[in-house]
Amino acid sequence: MSMRVKELMNIGQAQLEKCGVADAAIDSKQLYCFLMHVPNSKLILEYQRTIDDAQCDEYFKLLDRRSAGEPLQYIVGFQEFMGLTFRVNPSVLIPRMDTEVLVENAVSIVNEGKFGGEELPVKHKKDYEVLDVGCGSGAIGISIAKLGKRVKVTCSDISKDALTVAEKNASLNGVGKDIEFKSGDLLEPFKGHFKKRKFDMIVSNPPYIRSDVIPTLQREIKEHEPILALDGGPDGLDQYRRLIPDVADHLNKEGIVMLEIGYDQMDAVKGLFKADERFENVMGLQDLAGRDRVVFATLAGKKKK
Ligand code: GLN
Repeated sequence: MSMRVKELMNIGQAQLEKCGVADAAIDSKQLYCFLMHVPNSKLILEYQRTIDDAQCDEYFKLLDRRSAGEPLQYIVGFQEFMGLTFRVNPSVLIPRMDTEVLVENAVSIVNEGKFGGEELPVKHKKDYEVLDVGCGSGAIGISIAKLGKRVKVTCSDISKDALTVAEKNASLNGVGKDIEFKSGDLLEPFKGHFKKRKFDMIVSNPPYIRSDVIPTLQREIKEHEPILALDGGPDGLDQYRRLIPDVADHLNKEGIVMLEIGYDQMDAVKGLFKADERFENVMGLQDLAGRDRVVFATLAGKKKK
């Protein structure tokens, strides 16, 4: 028995809908495109084609994985972010559109000296050494290396498997030679015996979901994405409490720190920076959906007596 592609897409969509998949129509098509190596834009030309039993079987196997809650991105192995393609597997978080605002601002800081469309509150430097802490797939650091001018990017992660993915993504995006990769917990890799390594800008999307919220997340997230990259402890702020006091020691003069936050964590994370006199210019930004998403701060200048 063979089947028309159009018919197959309808069956696929119906099965995904029945299994509670949110974007059933899109996902049924993406799985076909992935299987048959057809670009999305050419799919419509395939509708009247018939495909044989073996190909149908392969398609239904993919459909079953998606129906059981496996994220589309882990099945097809990639996700677009900032117009670039990133390989993903279950050892890294799937890059989210929410994070683009952090990257866009990091790029506008280094290229134009602007944050949130306004002049930077500190001097615009000629070159920026940037660190992406907890880089996962490398989406943030690699995008900055690719889109930023005169930047030198370092990416670090506690997970060696994540670093393997990030290194692959750097080469696939043509910046393999420009990025340094370090393995370790938060800023641990940058604490030498004698001297702490310093950067002009430190960015991070740390785990920030409250532990009690994890079981309420979509099955795609809670059963497939790395919990290590999501769970921020009882109030979601564990990693900010560890990272923020340490960041000050790893910033050059007028250094900048920019962290992604959960939509309801703006006051708490701003509070952590404001309680530490080594920071100033504490500001926030919203994502495209208008939710609080980024906290920015700079290293305070030395106070004159
Ligand atoms: N934004 C992600 C989510 O909602 C969480 C990312 C994180 O914890 N850093 O799933």
